[in-house]
Amino acid sequence: MSAVPLRNNKAAASAARAVSVLGATGSIGDSTMDLLRGAPERYQVEALTANSNVAALVKLAREFNARFAAIADPDLLKDLQDALSGTGIECGAGESAIIEAAARPADWVMAAVSGAAGLKPALAAVDRGATVALANKECLVCAGDFFMQRAVSAGARILPADSEHNALFQALGSGNREELVRVIITASGGPFRTWDSADIERATLAQALKHPNWSMGQKITIDSASMMNKGLEVIEASYLFGLTPDEIDVLVHPQSIIHGMVEFSDRSVVAQLGAPDMRIPIAHCLGWPDRIVGPSARLDLARIGQLTFEAPDFNRFPGLKLAYDALHTGQGATTVFNAANEVAVAAFIAGKIRFGAIARLVEATMNAWVRSGNLAPLSSADDAIAVDHNARSKAATLLPQIAAKAS
Ligand code: NDP
Repeated sequence: MSAVPLRNNKAAASAARAVSVLGATGSIGDSTMDLLRGAPERYQVEALTANSNVAALVKLAREFNARFAAIADPDLLKDLQDALSGTGIECGAGESAIIEAAARPADWVMAAVSGAAGLKPALAAVDRGATVALANKECLVCAGDFFMQRAVSAGARILPADSEHNALFQALGSGNREELVRVIITASGGPFRTWDSADIERATLAQALKHPNWSMGQKITIDSASMMNKGLEVIEASYLFGLTPDEIDVLVHPQSIIHGMVEFSDRSVVAQLGAPDMRIPIAHCLGWPDRIVGPSARLDLARIGQLTFEAPDFNRFPGLKLAYDALHTGQGATTVFNAANEVAVAAFIAGKIRFGAIARLVEATMNAWVRSGNLAPLSSADDAIAVDHNARSKAATLLPQIAAKAS
């Protein structure tokens, strides 16, 4: 049984929904609030959360008359309380308040906290059987096996919010598991798609941040340039849909119009298309199992003219190959892959390593972890967080020698 509901069940639709948005002040949060704003009568906002951006959280909590607002930084509780005093909106601070926000009774929860901090809150929503629109990658990359098992046990529904996985989610409903041959995740190829290895090695931060199609946060934009993001998405797809690495292909598609495709046994390939706008997959999750009216631009294929495709180049983008290696090794390895990449990206942003060294640091950390022989399966959020912490320390230890070594 899968926690991802692959066939629509219209009987499950409800007219009005209580919703919570975890990570409401971020990029995905912003797109989600924009959709809620479009039909305020259809939604009652139960809880909103942020890390430290009190002003933005307060503004949203007031605008949507949320029942509960939570800030992760415990030092900011007083600021939040003062700013919301007289509104009747309850406040909380610290990690426990973010988890409380997720545990409060909302039918639909957007899980869009960034990083490993998103895991426990998403689990709190899953454990009470909520419908969870999942944007946070770490829930799957760091802990996908037991995250999905917990969702099945609790009767939670996981709706993939990431554009590629949402596309697969929409296309997978055209057949069943036995009929599936493979899924294809598309990749724009990022700003270095046509660059040679030597130029990619020396790419600057400003060059890495120039994504050709998508407007996203800094970390995910750099991951797109290195194709580490596509690697993370391959891992996510494996856990979400129960696919082997051999059933997941990546196809470079510079226009970012087709987001994902599924090939079935009769050789039909079903694709989902749309403008590169995160509000489209989020709207699909928000409306599911119905469709809502979205504010995004309509797709004009005649104007776009051409859709082109290329095979990914594992030599120029070794991070993508490392993701497949991690998936073959198992859950802990994907946790290490993600943690090492976060350390590497932070080091690149800080000017400590070259762009090309991001993949080398991830590879060195993964190799050290495999050599340690500590390959037991993860059975709790704390297990995953421990592997994540250890991998970060290992990556930090390896950083100076990777930085010193020219390619
Ligand atoms: P942002 O950095 O824009 O926003 C992150 C949100 O999480 C903010 O609300 C932030 O609060 C909050 N937050 C950060 N750290 C913590 C913490 N320790 N505890 C509690 N809350 C915290 O990220 P995105 O919206 O871009 O991405 C969110 C997730 O969705 C990520 O996992 C990302 O990989 C994934 N994703 C993003 C896509 C995109 O297009 N942006 C596409 C697909 C997936 P504050 O504002 O106060 O810092």
